[in-house]
Amino acid sequence: MNIIFMGPPGAGKGTQAERIVMEFEIPHISTGDAFRLAMSQGTPLGLKAKEYVDQGLLVPDEITIGIVKERLQQEDCGKGFLLDGFPRTISQAEALDSIMADMERKIDYAINLVVDRKLLLDRLTGRRICKKCGATYHVLFNPPKAENICDKCSGELYQRSDDTAEKVGTRLDEYINKTAPLLDYYRSKNLLLEVNGEEEIDTVTSNIVKILRGQVQ
Ligand code: ADP
Ligand code: AMP
Repeated sequence: MNIIFMGPPGAGKGTQAERIVMEFEIPHISTGDAFRLAMSQGTPLGLKAKEYVDQGLLVPDEITIGIVKERLQQEDCGKGFLLDGFPRTISQAEALDSIMADMERKIDYAINLVVDRKLLLDRLTGRRICKKCGATYHVLFNPPKAENICDKCSGELYQRSDDTAEKVGTRLDEYINKTAPLLDYYRSKNLLLEVNGEEEIDTVTSNIVKILRGQVQ
């Protein structure tokens, strides 16, 4: 099953992806995670990406598309994949179509998590992530059992440097201007399914699972 998760920053893509990839045993491909890893390692890709990520801007298409193309060709993607945070521009979506065509595969579902802009600022500024395993928490909406400690691996939690009120504004503008037009792109291909991302985390997961199991049209 080849799945794309769409939705603005803070919609819950990463949170749901963690769960859906366990359920369907497919790899979770997050371009944001890939950039953060490269940035923490100080690689040439990381240094380049940092110029954009730190400002809340999208990384240029040619850089981002190259990473995804390479990742999708790896063996573990053979049984399917979940793309989280890619594509984010029309050019990226067109590139993905051509990568899929070359591999004689296709996207099965584009799931859009719908959340009102007013909620996103609270979600993003309260987000915390495990340094060790990458699990996502929220100080109020999804707190860990012990403050700042990951429930799953006991790793320390941190706040992303782009999860500040100032950068969130830029990131949401980037979403509206460059990514939201993709909804029509996938709608016109009959691949878009909308899920209410404002419900409880478990409810959102079960609604996505129903769609992916073909129980909802
Ligand atoms: P995205 O990957 O789309 O940017 P995340 O999955 O990281 O979003 O979620 C953003 C923040 O909102 C996190 O702190 C997460 O714990 C919280 N969150 C995610 N889904 C929900 C939900 N359904 N209800 C409340 N909080 C949520
Ligand atoms: P995310 O973890 O998905 O919120 O992404 C964090 C940041 O990484 C974004 O604000 C962008 O700077 C960059 N990024 C992630 N995915 C993409 C993409 N598909 N295209 C361009 N930039 C991206």
